[in-house]
Amino acid sequence: MQIWTLGTGSGWPSQELNNSCVLVKTENKAFLWDAGEGCSRSLLKAGMTANELDAVLITHLHPDHISGIFMLIQMLYLEGRTKTLKLYLPEREDEFIDMLRFFYTFPQRFAFELQVLPLLTVSEDFPKISVCANDHLLGYKDLIESQNLPNQLSAFSLKLSSPQGDFVYSSDLGTTDSIADFVRDTHTLLVDAGHPELQQIQKLREYGIKRILLTHECRAETRKWLSENPDSPYQEAIQGHKYHI
Ligand SMILES: [Zn+2]
Repeated sequence: MQIWTLGTGSGWPSQELNNSCVLVKTENKAFLWDAGEGCSRSLLKAGMTANELDAVLITHLHPDHISGIFMLIQMLYLEGRTKTLKLYLPEREDEFIDMLRFFYTFPQRFAFELQVLPLLTVSEDFPKISVCANDHLLGYKDLIESQNLPNQLSAFSLKLSSPQGDFVYSSDLGTTDSIADFVRDTHTLLVDAGHPELQQIQKLREYGIKRILLTHECRAETRKWLSENPDSPYQEAIQGHKYHI
């Protein structure tokens, strides 16, 4: 398995970092996990060809995780993709085609079929991928209920299993407690170190994880702790790097 950290930034604007995006490749499949701004350019740099991606999975609907999807779809259209693209969304997938039309992007002009599907069904198509709901969006609950909005507070972490070891991408979290069982004994965890407190990041040591890659721009206290503990399983994820399991 190859794990390419194409975007290790957070929602804060950055001169250097792309928004969240991970390219995960196995022997015969290629998945994009989140499609933050900059993902099209990063995929070109990574040598991605038009028909190579099998599916795009979006963990939650914050713009730093989905804002690149429109240019990615446009790129695949312009490059003449012919293979069906499965796009898994965490919620409100019925509204996505209207968003494309909003941008004058009309799927009937594509040479490929775009299937927009609920993320919770991804295991039916790709049994090695599993999904775990996390607590990232729960802070919006009162606002959404008081205004009777259709937002569903859906935020997920993703896992790809392999005989050599599992890879988990936490995506954004409130706490690492919300995915404790999901990450236990995994080989490589790419974890949001921008939102959870340092103590929550430190708790991950208890779960038997071989390698913990910190992404989404570490909190200052977490980065300081990391510099003082260089021999731990933790390291800061490097944008553009290719990790192997
Ligand atoms: Zn984010």
